[in-house]
Amino acid sequence: MSSDFPIVYADRIQQLPPYLFAAIDKKKAEVRARGMEIIDLGVGDPDLPTPGHIVASLQTAAARPEHHRYPSYVGMPGFRAAAADWFRRRFDVTLDPATEMLSLIGSKEGVAHFPLAFVNPGDYVLVPDPGYPVYGVATSFAGGIPYRMPLKEENGFLPDFDAIPADILDRAAMMFLNYPNNPTGAVADEAFFVRAIAVARRHNIIVCHDAAYSELAYDGYRPLSFLQVPGAREVGIELHSLSKTYNMTGWRIGFAAGNAAIVNGLGKVKTNIDSGAFEAVQAAAITALSADQQCVTDMCEIYRRRRDVMIPALRAAGFTLEAPKATFYLWIRNPEGMDSATLAAMLIEKTGVVVTPGSGFGAAGEGYFRISLTVPEARLLEAGERIRAALA
Ligand SMILES: *Cc1c(COP(=O)(O)O)cnc(C)c1O
Repeated sequence: MSSDFPIVYADRIQQLPPYLFAAIDKKKAEVRARGMEIIDLGVGDPDLPTPGHIVASLQTAAARPEHHRYPSYVGMPGFRAAAADWFRRRFDVTLDPATEMLSLIGSKEGVAHFPLAFVNPGDYVLVPDPGYPVYGVATSFAGGIPYRMPLKEENGFLPDFDAIPADILDRAAMMFLNYPNNPTGAVADEAFFVRAIAVARRHNIIVCHDAAYSELAYDGYRPLSFLQVPGAREVGIELHSLSKTYNMTGWRIGFAAGNAAIVNGLGKVKTNIDSGAFEAVQAAAITALSADQQCVTDMCEIYRRRRDVMIPALRAAGFTLEAPKATFYLWIRNPEGMDSATLAAMLIEKTGVVVTPGSGFGAAGEGYFRISLTVPEARLLEAGERIRAALA
């Protein structure tokens, strides 16, 4: 359709980084059209269904007319109380549901809106690189400037705060952290959070810790909450999500927890933008958080088996990698001399296996690619074998 009415996107849209996956999506379509069967290890979206007791809870709650009206902006009192109870049981941290808890329409929503509450135009925001792309984009949308903290393998994929120039730290309004980490699968210990809190205090930097993968861990490892660390609640909040924990990515429910003034600031933005999460979904989330957590244990066991099937398959294909303690991702170094985009394109083209190039998560992700363990074991083995054959 042609028109002489000019549609001009705002600068913030025009300045978005190029959509890296466009090239991959195109290749995927080509390969599929050739009749090759795609094995998609690219997306971080659980293939397992939401547990039945949670679905049943939604079905009951959805039929109740009292849930059909606008929800409260901050979340139902029962949801915030259930989240606080879960937090106490899981982390031994006591939070006031009235002031230190806020419902989110998924944690992505919390990430996206957070800088609007705390970042003025020209302020720096420290973001992990490689990292979840929303941290940088949300910063730019608020007029802030992302300062990318490289996560280096030799540092256990933790940022080195000593490497950040002093003038950046002085002009930084906030930082995003994310452990267990997407895409590297790395985990943070208490000593790291202690360092982060010290930097935050010294330079007045608000911390937003994205803990979307806190329940997805292996071999007896239990990820820490940032809020377990002394001083955390003075400087920051933590974002939690039911998406990965209960296979509820489509349901859009999570929560922010921590410093009351920070929770309140995020709430002020949300009150003016969204109208909260559907109450029937909150009711189902109460069920998810309050019921026996065996479904989470079972899910972790499924991912653990997949991890332990895929790692030997990748080693057989010539890759060196360690087993991650958490997340459903494998973060793997490229074969010598191959960049991430070339490798990802070659793998789809020759094997039909879709992986995510590390450079899609930031410049420091170059040299790596990410695999999601969100397909059954047999498909992982098939993918590993196709990759081995292609690289042989
Ligand atoms: C999947 C993911 C989320 C979760 O997003 P929701 O909006 O809660 O579905 C948040 N942060 C990271 C780093 C993720 O990978």
